[in-house]
Amino acid sequence: MTKKVHIPVQLIIEHGAIRNLNQTQVYDWLKDRHVLLVSGSGKTRLVTEEVEAAIQGRAARAEVLCCKDNSLDTINELERHVLEDPPDIIIGVGGGKALDVSKVVGTRSNVPVILFPTAISSDAICSPVAVIKMMSKSTSIGVKMPQAVVIDLDVLSSCPPRLMSAGIGDLLSNKTALFDWRLAHREGEEEMNTFANLMANNAVESFMNILNQPELNRSRLMKVSAEALIMSGIAMSIAGSSRPCSGSEHLISHALDYHCGAKALHGEQVAIGVLLTQHLQGKQERVERLAPYYEKLGLPTHYEDLGYTREEMHRAVRKAPSMRDRYTILNQFDMTDEEIDRLLDEVYPNEAKNRYRLTVG
Ligand SMILES: [Zn+2]
Repeated sequence: MTKKVHIPVQLIIEHGAIRNLNQTQVYDWLKDRHVLLVSGSGKTRLVTEEVEAAIQGRAARAEVLCCKDNSLDTINELERHVLEDPPDIIIGVGGGKALDVSKVVGTRSNVPVILFPTAISSDAICSPVAVIKMMSKSTSIGVKMPQAVVIDLDVLSSCPPRLMSAGIGDLLSNKTALFDWRLAHREGEEEMNTFANLMANNAVESFMNILNQPELNRSRLMKVSAEALIMSGIAMSIAGSSRPCSGSEHLISHALDYHCGAKALHGEQVAIGVLLTQHLQGKQERVERLAPYYEKLGLPTHYEDLGYTREEMHRAVRKAPSMRDRYTILNQFDMTDEEIDRLLDEVYPNEAKNRYRLTVG
């Protein structure tokens, strides 16, 4: 049995990608088209202006709409605009929310989407999943894959290091997510797609191998992070769900969002979740091996560094299994309050505190 998989036709990750857009196939597609640019707010507007200038004279018409958030109201408003005056192509420019909104509006109105991420803070830069806000809570929904992704490394290099660290946190979760997926498969809870499994695993493995290269500089780190996150997104597209890249560590992050005030970035919370999940998966030695990488990559090793209290982290672990119907390692533990406390002490010792802020920069 074979399966049709949607992947982007073009992936461009290079310095000067916007400036040199006219040398790409993406530019060819825009000829005489009506293009809608969906821009994030803040500094992103400047990048949107660069993209707008780059396609001027090529597209028949380019209009820019600013998306202030990823709420259902914002999405509905944009969708109304798209239905009244349908564009041929939607270009999403932004760090996260504008990309998610573009994907949702493009899917709903059946307009192809090209993404220009201005940060790589999660695997949403190229995935069949978008996060939207409904009734003030974040929810993931399935969307069509983008037709192309254009990442200008010059744009990424001016974004805060914290964002890239968060993206790497999201990437590292592939390991624990794949463990959970295999576990769910063994327990008869879920089908396994071996190709998606392989691809998500290779994405994180190849990234970890490159981390050990002595000549690794920031520019190369950005490029390999972006590539690995895109590979993760394609693995999700192959699987038909976020399963290859989202397991119990994501459930903990969702619980921190839903029950504890969503105080940090998705990838930072996932990175904290990875440590706890690795421990439950019987890999405490891997938690210890990850610590120096976390420091090198500017990732938090203690929940307090993200502003969460002990009580909140305890609540997140308790609530995590109920965040969605997904079988993970958490289903194999029915922990008492004392056991959760002991687990938190083991995974997040006091020495793990206060490293995070020192290493970001
Ligand atoms: Zn994620």
